[in-house]
Amino acid sequence: MHGSYFRERCVGNRPLGIRSMSNRVHIVGAGVAGLHCAAVLRSNGVRVAVYEKSDAVGGRMRTDQVGGFLLDRGFHVMQSGYECAGSRVDFGSLGARPFRSGVRVIRLAGGTPEVLTYADPFRSPLAALGSLRNGNWFDLLRVGALRWRLVHQDVNASFSSGDASTHRYLRELGFSQDFLKRFFCPLLAGIFLESRLATSERMFRFVFQAMARGKMLLPRAGIKAVPERIADFVGREHIRLGVPARAIDSRRVLIGDRVEDAAQIIVAHPTVGASDSRSVWTLHFDAEHSPAPGGYLLLNGDYELGKNAIAHLAVPSDVQPCYGADGRALVTVTVVGDAAQALGLVEPGAVADRVRYELGAWFPQSVNWRILAVQNVSGALPVREAGSGLKADTPATSSEILSCGDHCLHGSVEGALRSAEAAAIECLNRLGIEPAPITHTY
Ligand SMILES: Cc1cc2nc3c(=O)[nH]c(=O)nc-3n(C[C@H](O)[C@H](O)[C@H](O)COP(=O)(O)OP(=O)(O)OC[C@H]3O[C@@H](n4cnc5c(N)ncnc54)[C@H](O)[C@@H]3O)c2cc1C
Repeated sequence: MHGSYFRERCVGNRPLGIRSMSNRVHIVGAGVAGLHCAAVLRSNGVRVAVYEKSDAVGGRMRTDQVGGFLLDRGFHVMQSGYECAGSRVDFGSLGARPFRSGVRVIRLAGGTPEVLTYADPFRSPLAALGSLRNGNWFDLLRVGALRWRLVHQDVNASFSSGDASTHRYLRELGFSQDFLKRFFCPLLAGIFLESRLATSERMFRFVFQAMARGKMLLPRAGIKAVPERIADFVGREHIRLGVPARAIDSRRVLIGDRVEDAAQIIVAHPTVGASDSRSVWTLHFDAEHSPAPGGYLLLNGDYELGKNAIAHLAVPSDVQPCYGADGRALVTVTVVGDAAQALGLVEPGAVADRVRYELGAWFPQSVNWRILAVQNVSGALPVREAGSGLKADTPATSSEILSCGDHCLHGSVEGALRSAEAAAIECLNRLGIEPAPITHTY
């Protein structure tokens, strides 16, 4: 069939013609992948209908307002260093603000907390000189060398060779076990959402490269601002909330007990079970003052599976004041699912008690912090361990029902966006439409 049959005449993003539902592409899931896929199709003049089973768009990128605080569902940042996210999202217009480059590490030395700063030597060379006091020079030089190499390397090269675990990769690069425990384990546990660093080295290179190239940002309205912007671009009238849908085949979708015909069905949600994905606990506290000012991520330098729970802590209100309320600070603590499990913590109350106990050793004033929320996200990220053959982009598919989402590539906003573009382009090809270059931003 000819492409113009599916393509409507458009002015910018606005349709001029009305066609029946069967001429639309139907997308199941309004996470960032489903929305971006819909947006790319819309910008090519294709009519879409997006079905979302929950009450809002965003999927895993949601933000709740609690007592004036902005609580993202899990500690979540946008990385400006991701190629696709960095070029499609207009961080300036979202009022996004960056965390400081580098990290701080907190350790208990003889029961007394000690905070070390690891500044980024390429962005804050003077502060970085001070970091040299904080560890083995060889480890710090290796971080610098690795960072330099990855920044100058093509993204695809990160995926083209080597597929061992991140732990093995870092050990083979010569990093000491102590540095892994103090720096890489708590940092990467909070990113991979697993504490053994069993995730493929390819994912490590990809993430570390993005961190070195760009910044970790928080939008002014919370992380949900990103999918909300994409939904605005798609047009809210094309998104149906509270409507679970199921693909029957490539051209039919089941909505309730009604079957709808479509030009193409695209499934934009994970279909894997909890055992194939990572989980994470996030605890948000209302604190009178920031316990760790400076806009750094604070890593637990004593992090060890089975010994403690907290991987890292952030104070989003130090970076983006809108996250706080009435001049009070928002403290966000991350406990990776496997760390909670190793300590036998399964109930929110037990996780909260344990976190309070660990915080007490670092910040005695935390006894006065009020818990705003204890969140548990299961199905947080797809598992991508050593040997998973991770690629930079989704391979071409001959599958009749098209899919997109981070589960098609890797667990990140970048993975979700890239897979969405691949699905949209394949869909356009099937409809006989020459895909236009993607030039719009959100
Ligand atoms: C706590 C946490 C922190 C994270 N931090 C980061 C970070 O800092 N940086 C980063 O890059 N990535 C991060 N991620 C990963 C990132 O959030 C995800 O990769 C991305 O949001 C996945 O988007 P998606 O559209 O693929 O899937 P989802 O967001 O899961 O969207 C799928 C949507 O489909 C809907 N749906 C499911 N079934 C149906 C159905 N039958 N009918 C209709 N609708 C359906 C769901 O309700 C959902 O809205 C984090 C994830 C979590 C959970």
